[in-house]
Amino acid sequence: MNIHEYQGKEVLRQYGVNVPRGKVAFTVDEAVSAAKELGSSVTVVKAQIHAGGRGKAGGVNIAKSVEDVASYAKELLGKVLVTHQTGPEGKEVKRLLIEEGCDIKKEYYIGVVVDRGTGRVVMMGSEEGGMDIEEVAAHSPEKIIKVVVDPAVGLQMYQARQLAYDIKIPGELINKAVKFMLALYKAFEEKDCSIAEINPLVVTGAGDVMALDAKLNFDSNALFRHKDIVELRDLDEEDAKEIQASKFDLSYIALDGNIGCMVNGAGLAMATMDIIKYFGGSPANFLDVGGGATKEKVTEAFKIILSDPNVKGIFVNIFGGIMKCDIIAEGVVAAARELGLDRPLVVRLEGTNVARGKEILNGSGLNIVAADSMSDGAQKIVSLVK
Ligand code: ADP
Ligand code: MG
Repeated sequence: MNIHEYQGKEVLRQYGVNVPRGKVAFTVDEAVSAAKELGSSVTVVKAQIHAGGRGKAGGVNIAKSVEDVASYAKELLGKVLVTHQTGPEGKEVKRLLIEEGCDIKKEYYIGVVVDRGTGRVVMMGSEEGGMDIEEVAAHSPEKIIKVVVDPAVGLQMYQARQLAYDIKIPGELINKAVKFMLALYKAFEEKDCSIAEINPLVVTGAGDVMALDAKLNFDSNALFRHKDIVELRDLDEEDAKEIQASKFDLSYIALDGNIGCMVNGAGLAMATMDIIKYFGGSPANFLDVGGGATKEKVTEAFKIILSDPNVKGIFVNIFGGIMKCDIIAEGVVAAARELGLDRPLVVRLEGTNVARGKEILNGSGLNIVAADSMSDGAQKIVSLVK
């Protein structure tokens, strides 16, 4: 789960990570009173969306007066911001962070991630901050320094000190940087983050070490023990279909293709997307209805798939192991009837009671194309949507 920058900074502040003073604003009036309250000579008006790259897209503005704050706030609120991370459709700005301006001497990068290679938490740092870290990784990988954290003891002070030296934090600020890194690691660990990215971390004219940006991502499997974090969820930033699916315990991820997929089992769902691609099609979603798919779940899954205007056809690929094929067939037929299916539907069933399942599909009178195998089904749906 993602949260906004201003929320991330608030979480980090609780752990002693140094962040600028700032306030969230939902309206121009709130932005103005936040700026007055801050009372800084320079104020930054920052669009809050769940995507980075805002600076380059005009989402971060430096205001020298309260009037400037008002006009930037007016310009940004309601604007659709397109950054290299939002996709071409962009994201509407509904919240702003009004923050004190910072006298930046140099920008650095610090990121904490769970590294699958080592199976450990890794803290990465770079002297090349403020820009795309992916670009630094591609062009000058030697400028990214990594320390691997032993989970038994956590990030050690000597590791943080080494990292601070290696990314060339000025000597007199090393201790502040170490304190920053230890606090950041503690926040990451205690809050079950999957990513904590500070880009940029800055050294200021006054000799402070500070997080100017904060991207925190949380492991959704651990959210049950972080009620305070769950409260920060902003549904406006999430796909409506994904929210709907989560209510019914369906694992659904929206994609940009035109073949809706309904599958049981995550592995089979991945394989189904692969085989659609293999035959020249493009999946509109990942969907795992789970092992115990009931008629209600199948119906709900259908509704979600059909609510996507890009979907030109549906491929149901079910392996009846725990579930029986006849039950699934009944669910598919009922859902298709209830929803007045207006797009081609290919169904491939395999497993327990498969013969009975096929009979139900064939006898339904609905325009359902039965497939004999996974590749047969994939080819059929690909040609039907063409
Ligand atoms: P994004 O990563 O989405 O572009 P950032 O929060 O990193 O957004 O801001 C982009 C740039 O704007 C930063 O690299 C920094 O140079 C500048 N900036 C951001 N916040 C402040 C601030 N409070 N004071 C001064 N400059 C800032
Ligand atoms: Mg940034």
